[in-house]
Amino acid sequence: MALLIRNGRIITATDDYVADIWCEDQVITRIGRNLDSPAGATVIDAAGKYVFPGFVDPHVHIYLPFMGTYAKDTYETASKAALVGGTTTLIEMICPSRQEEPLAAFELWKGKADGKSACDFTFHMGVTRYDSAAESQLKEIVRAGLSSFKVFLAYKGAFGVDDTELYHTLKLAKSLGVIVTAHCENAELVAELQKQLLADGKTGPEYHEPSRPEAVEAEGVHHLMTFAQMHDAHCYIVHTSCEPAVRAALAAKQRGVKVWIETLIQYLLLDKTYAERPDFEGSKFVMSPPLRDKRNQRFLWDNLASGAISTVATDHAPFDFKGQKEMGRGDFTKIPNGIPSLEDRINMLYTHGVNTGRLDLNRLVRAGSTAAAKIFGLFPRKGTIAVGSDADLVVYDPAYRGTVSVRTQTMAVDYNPFEGMTIEGRPSVVTVRGQVAVKDGRFVGDPKRGQYLKREPNHF
Ligand SMILES: [Zn+2]
Repeated sequence: MALLIRNGRIITATDDYVADIWCEDQVITRIGRNLDSPAGATVIDAAGKYVFPGFVDPHVHIYLPFMGTYAKDTYETASKAALVGGTTTLIEMICPSRQEEPLAAFELWKGKADGKSACDFTFHMGVTRYDSAAESQLKEIVRAGLSSFKVFLAYKGAFGVDDTELYHTLKLAKSLGVIVTAHCENAELVAELQKQLLADGKTGPEYHEPSRPEAVEAEGVHHLMTFAQMHDAHCYIVHTSCEPAVRAALAAKQRGVKVWIETLIQYLLLDKTYAERPDFEGSKFVMSPPLRDKRNQRFLWDNLASGAISTVATDHAPFDFKGQKEMGRGDFTKIPNGIPSLEDRINMLYTHGVNTGRLDLNRLVRAGSTAAAKIFGLFPRKGTIAVGSDADLVVYDPAYRGTVSVRTQTMAVDYNPFEGMTIEGRPSVVTVRGQVAVKDGRFVGDPKRGQYLKREPNHF
């Protein structure tokens, strides 16, 4: 089945030009002006619109047993929500408990996605325990096409690793050519601050941020960077929320540590006052690291524009307000951590980044797609528009105006953190390997088209 996208303004991380794109057998086969359209081809007129490479979200949770409950989305719902918002590739975190065997966890998580996803997907392998059994299984998982690990410095007792385990995980990663993504917060400091706040009767969601202040995150980053330096390992710091944490990473980079920095669309647009909303509504905005003081946002935007921060992800983790977030009434440490944002990332980044002049179009593509594809070994199959690349394309309508709302979203969760905010632009067509998946905000594609993406190590 052939697809022709005509007269669009093609934007990649480096280019900006008008041309037609011809796709056949799932990939882009020609790019040029005035391409013929043989009978039988699907033709899309993109005049007046942008054509972006499909966006890559390098940090999502779909199957997630966490804090006594499960995140709400399944691959059926999450992959459609991703596509409606222009994201065509998901990298999900596999988060086994310390008791689970890594290989069994890999099979379990992959089984939740195989044959059930509308978009392509791959995983970061959570290393939540390190011993010789885990080590040999991790090697096998890398052979099965996974080339990134995830470690948690927070959540000790659930996912978190101790320093000895961290040391050996980074050593193994270096020897295999695998990158280590990391959640950086000092777990012991968080535990002590939580205890103190609760003892003082400070139990509401507004105390979540004070229980893990900026310095606790910066310490976590510095800690990881010290360990990474010992092994010359490649690291990627997930969900960096604030200036001190970014500065800790940049200082390490300055002294030669191989590190990339991710921030989230939530940190760019929402701040800690959201978690202070009355009637427990603040719980909708509880995640870790927490939403911060607003003064950090300017710093994050500036460092995104300069490229010091490489990627904007979502850390999508949907928990209903009713019945799930409510588990933490009277004790903020029991509020399931997470904010759903998979569907809205690109529209928000476009509206508040490009349309405000903070980011140019090339940087939007780089931060939302290309950088993640390169860092995680998916480039140039994903992350760009070039002959031979997968025909994952987003025809983007900058004239669209709309409002974000739970009433119209595709994500399977009972609220939207951006409720009522306007968007100035949205995808009018999204394709998955040459097949139309979305038209004007509606999923119209093949719900089972998504494939598991194998990734090679040593791609740096
Ligand atoms: Zn996460």
